[in-house]
Amino acid sequence: MQPVLYIVIPCYNEQEVLPITAPLFLDKILSLAAAGKINGESRVLFVNDGSKDRTWEIIQELAGQDPHYMGLCQSRNRGHQNAVLAGLMEARDRCDITISIDCDGQDDINAMDAMVDAYLDGCDVVYGVRSSRETDSFFKRATAQGFYKFLAAMGAEVVYNHADYRLISARVLKELAHFREVNLFLRGLVPLVGFKSTTVAYARAERLAGESHYPLSKMVALAVDGITSLSVRPLRLITGFGVLVALVSFIGVVWALVTALAGRTVAGWASMTCIVCFVSGVQLICLGIIGEYIGKIYMETKQRPRYIVSERCGRWDENEKNGEI
Ligand code: UDP
Ligand code: MG
Repeated sequence: MQPVLYIVIPCYNEQEVLPITAPLFLDKILSLAAAGKINGESRVLFVNDGSKDRTWEIIQELAGQDPHYMGLCQSRNRGHQNAVLAGLMEARDRCDITISIDCDGQDDINAMDAMVDAYLDGCDVVYGVRSSRETDSFFKRATAQGFYKFLAAMGAEVVYNHADYRLISARVLKELAHFREVNLFLRGLVPLVGFKSTTVAYARAERLAGESHYPLSKMVALAVDGITSLSVRPLRLITGFGVLVALVSFIGVVWALVTALAGRTVAGWASMTCIVCFVSGVQLICLGIIGEYIGKIYMETKQRPRYIVSERCGRWDENEKNGEI
């Protein structure tokens, strides 16, 4: 039995590009089904992210034209990440695999063949990775690369040059559903779930129509969200900085004492300098220690699953019947 595939596509004010790309997604499903790789019950699922233009009307029209099209409308604009999650969560009980992709035609739809092949070979997650960024402007390329490097430096593990074009199996989605955070950064969360994964390279094209909704400001916001929701390293950096300041302060104290003993200062200067140096170092270290605990509380409040089982062997069912698990 072939797997049922749901292609999950977030759409926000995409009335220009949707009529162009929607048939491409449908063709992909039909050709994959014809090749016997996926089930004919597969679907193209559009998630309207509170668009203010005719996007939802277009999705409704598409759904009326062909049973392979489905639509989902969010009550308001919640952002790309939440739109993708909404689609994935609604799809997970209806399918075996999902592929999330933007609706603007920038990501090569033909990479889906290789993704499905990788799934059939036993991978549960397949990341689409951009092989080149030639079509991006210099500015977009530089900021995007800076984005990945900065994330890695701050302790948020992400797959380099991977956006949100990826295949996820239903069983990984079931585990992902246990990650209950509100500040979503799927690129960081999916690797945390684990399971066997691989990458598929594709060339990124230009938008077929319409305009990007990811200006620099939104990219910075996404990076900040990614770092603060995945890692407490910035808090730890404060501790490191505090230790550094304390060391420098110590040198400052020695210097103040030496100058004071040499009689080259006004009265009271050395004691003031010593106090300022000492207190600022102590304060930063204390802040860092408090930060360490806040980081722990923060991670605990997420209530993430503490373990995820990917496979079992042996006679599990029997034990279950005996109530031994
Ligand atoms: N998108 C969304 N909600 C938003 C912003 C964007 O669902 O608030 C969708 C958008 O319709 C597109 C995808 O997210 O399918 C990526 O957006 P875009 O192409 O504008 O970003 P870029 O590719 O320029 O980074
Ligand atoms: Mg785009």
